[in-house]
Amino acid sequence: MRDENLEPLLGLQEIDGRIDRLAREMAEIPRERRIHEKEIEEQKVTFEKEKEKAAEVSRDKEKCVGDKESMQETLASFKSKLLELKDNDAYRTMLMQIENAEKRLGELDIRIIELMYEEELIEEVQEAARKTFERNKARAAKRQQILDDQFNELQEKMKELEAECERVSGEISPRLLDRYQRVRTAGKGLVVVGLINGTCGGCHTKMPPQTAVEISQGKTFPCPICGRFIIWTEGSSFSD
Ligand SMILES: [Zn+2]
Repeated sequence: MRDENLEPLLGLQEIDGRIDRLAREMAEIPRERRIHEKEIEEQKVTFEKEKEKAAEVSRDKEKCVGDKESMQETLASFKSKLLELKDNDAYRTMLMQIENAEKRLGELDIRIIELMYEEELIEEVQEAARKTFERNKARAAKRQQILDDQFNELQEKMKELEAECERVSGEISPRLLDRYQRVRTAGKGLVVVGLINGTCGGCHTKMPPQTAVEISQGKTFPCPICGRFIIWTEGSSFSD
């Protein structure tokens, strides 16, 4: 005669196996979420850096433009002064100053053109970085939504399994249930195992012949070494 606790014990073991798999699946979701978040953060940093570079070039250019304007004013005042100078030496000195100012203006013009060109290039790079960032952000947001839905679904399933677990547990005597829980929480994998070659299918401890016979007749026997429940299954056999 089979032990009346056996069916619910096997049922409980099966449900617990599903709970474990589900818990692993649920643990994967926050992990994937963190990967996406990190990726987006990195792209954001790249984009911000490009923005910073562009701002720097713009500042340089504005400074050059400002310098150019004041240099133009200086040049204009030099030129008007030149007309008033009567002394030859002073006149020559002023001519030289005008020449220098014109030279400096030419340099500033070249630098401004260089910076404008640089600005354009950076603009393109920045735009590409922005697009990558925006596109991936949108994609990640969509993926996060899917993950959230998945997580909620798994959570619902988990609730069902836990209720099922509780129902089946109620059919098992408290003493056996306590033993089952202790073996399970010890992390030894299956709690209900078959008699294999006359030994415990979990820890391989040899069972006395009389016990083996009782198991073959349907008795559920607790292994004195590992605490698992030993039963007679399809693959069971006496010692050879
Ligand atoms: Zn054992």
